[in-house]
Amino acid sequence: MSQNYENQSFTTSESHTSGEQWLVESNMRAEKMGSLSFWQNEYEKQFLKIKTCPLCGKVCKDQWKMEYKHKHSNECLKIQAENKGETYIPPSKRKVKCECGESVLFCNFPTHLESDKHKNKMKQDVLQCKICSKIFVGKRPRRDYEAHIKTGKHKKNLEISKIRSFEKLKQKTPTR
Ligand SMILES: [Zn+2]
Ligand SMILES: [Zn+2]
Ligand SMILES: [Zn+2]
Repeated sequence: MSQNYENQSFTTSESHTSGEQWLVESNMRAEKMGSLSFWQNEYEKQFLKIKTCPLCGKVCKDQWKMEYKHKHSNECLKIQAENKGETYIPPSKRKVKCECGESVLFCNFPTHLESDKHKNKMKQDVLQCKICSKIFVGKRPRRDYEAHIKTGKHKKNLEISKIRSFEKLKQKTPTR
């Protein structure tokens, strides 16, 4: 008998607890409902974040457009330059320095490599006095070069360079 009563009281207390729990849960539910706009805000913030270019800050239509169409595009590079207060020069308008010493537009570079101007300049490079670092530019660079190596200035430089290389050799040779 007494055992039965104890059981009953246990059931009562349990139902009491679950009743409390229900109250807590429904309160939480109500709280969640109330903060729905908060979550919506969070969602929109995240959505805005994933479609914003991390490089220039432009908000694109969606993440795909941002990642595959916009990021690193000419437009992106332009905004990046503007953000830094610089003027953007598209790659085709950029100048590159050729090994012949000429500055050429990037888009004209292949044509330049084929041009006579470039080829002549490269030929002249061969005609450089390695001792004096003098480059022979002109109509007859070979003749000028041959005249140059006979000059006193060149001979003097040649002597200096011989002494220098001899001294370097001495430094490299280990002393006993
Ligand atoms: Zn961008
Ligand atoms: Zn060149
Ligand atoms: Zn020389």
